[in-house]
Amino acid sequence: MTVKSVDVLLVGAGAMSSTLAMILKQLDPNLKICVVERLKSVAKESTDGWNNAGTGHAAYCELNYTPENDNGDVDISKALSINASFELSLQFWTHLVKNQVLPTPSEFINRTPHRSFVWGEKNVAFLRKRFELMSAHHLFAGMEYSENHEQLKEWMPLIMNGRDDKEPVAATNMPRGSDVDFGSLARYMMDHLQNQDDFELLLNHNVEDLKKSSNDGWSVSVKDRDSGKESRIKAKFVFLGAGGGALPLLQKSGIPESKGYGGFPVSGQWLVCEDADVAEQHYAKVYGKAAIGAPPMSVPHLDTRVINGKKALLFGPFAGFTTKFLKKGSIMDLPASIKGNNLKPIVSVGMNNMDLTRYLISEVFQSNRSRMNSLREYFPEAKDENWSLASAGQRVQIIKKDDEGRGTLEFGTEIVASEDGTIASLLGASPGASTAVQAMLDVIEICFSDRLETCGWKEKLKTMIPSYGESLIDDAKLLQTVRKDTLQVLNLNA
Ligand SMILES: Cc1cc2nc3c(=O)[nH]c(=O)nc-3n(C[C@H](O)[C@H](O)[C@H](O)COP(=O)(O)OP(=O)(O)OC[C@H]3O[C@@H](n4cnc5c(N)ncnc54)[C@H](O)[C@@H]3O)c2cc1C
Repeated sequence: MTVKSVDVLLVGAGAMSSTLAMILKQLDPNLKICVVERLKSVAKESTDGWNNAGTGHAAYCELNYTPENDNGDVDISKALSINASFELSLQFWTHLVKNQVLPTPSEFINRTPHRSFVWGEKNVAFLRKRFELMSAHHLFAGMEYSENHEQLKEWMPLIMNGRDDKEPVAATNMPRGSDVDFGSLARYMMDHLQNQDDFELLLNHNVEDLKKSSNDGWSVSVKDRDSGKESRIKAKFVFLGAGGGALPLLQKSGIPESKGYGGFPVSGQWLVCEDADVAEQHYAKVYGKAAIGAPPMSVPHLDTRVINGKKALLFGPFAGFTTKFLKKGSIMDLPASIKGNNLKPIVSVGMNNMDLTRYLISEVFQSNRSRMNSLREYFPEAKDENWSLASAGQRVQIIKKDDEGRGTLEFGTEIVASEDGTIASLLGASPGASTAVQAMLDVIEICFSDRLETCGWKEKLKTMIPSYGESLIDDAKLLQTVRKDTLQVLNLNA
């Protein structure tokens, strides 16, 4: 059996591994890095263009990031932290564009205004309050608000045409929002890395198993999916950036930190319109309010998408249920992930989330007519013949054991790492690829803390991400400086 040794082994070639590999290679070009991907090309699972919504999640338009409590108070703290995280991604991409690692920005990011839209008195009152709080903070400066039908017609004609003029409506507008083709972005990063010394990308190879070796590293079994040939890679550090495939591998690692975690897969579908005449009439990502019982990531939105330079519209997502953890995974993924240490948390999550269960059942059995009716709540004059159904990527939500041994269902992402920092994995899916840079910086801080301090990595990070180590939530002046640069380099200025 072939055996090779590397410093860093990354499992999966999606948004997360490509970002981590790129940051690490910039920090230390001598690191020997290998990426193992089970599919024949890079970023073909959740990271691929049509498998996600491509929203550069900056919390400008996503109403689920600003929840309202029973007293009517709106909490914007999550929105602040997501916005600040996205700013790190923008800075890193800016650095890569300036250094010709990434091509002209329109190949992967395009300015697309982010707008929220609601109807009904209660929702209008919520949006007004949300706007007042957000626009007062420097991160959200520039946000606009209107309840005027004529203004809204300018912002979102397809959504306003055919609507009752007397209906109370409101919208916010953030001109500097973005649509990101995360698939192209990951592929550009991997293309660049493949031209570097000491970097290898193994496509069509599956990571089957991993074991801690006596010398503190990991011994990882890899299988060529064509020939069936097995090989072994010894790695000082392993990152499980396998998307939905991360949980099973984390369980195989056997680290104590993996115990008690389970996964709850939620699949998705979109309605897609590629008719150029219709697509030309909408230029925004317009997010509405989620239905009762819907998981936070199921907020309906009508989006402009630009994938491979072609403009189209997307509406959704419509949730679904399958037991696969990856779009191209196996129906045995969920059953195989149930272990003695996570059975109780999984069962309790099933029993305590009846709203979600009911919501998923209603989504799964939805007819196309009912999907078109949902679309018409946002685009009243939508015509059936312009829209087709497409499958989105797979999300695996985290089930986490609480102190009483029961489970909680989490909708965010979490890094699970071993105490010695030799292995880390990313579980969960939201806010997703937009905050990949923050997530991978967290991995570096947990697993490479010594090098951050002693090898000049902190200083190098500051050249790539000028606000690294500072708070953009607190420092308005710093935000102004970094944003001026990112908006200009990435062509996101209105
Ligand atoms: C419907 C939907 C909408 C979304 N919308 C947005 C959005 O608007 N904005 C946003 O920022 N994020 C969004 N996301 C989230 C975003 O897509 C993900 O967070 C991100 O793509 C995850 O990247 P990843 O690298 O972790 O996983 P993936 O892109 O899934 O990559 C994991 C890779 O690992 C490989 N792999 C798995 N197991 C193995 C193994 N054993 N051996 C080798 N390789 C393996 C897989 O083949 C895959 O290529 C959305 C996700 C979904 C599903």
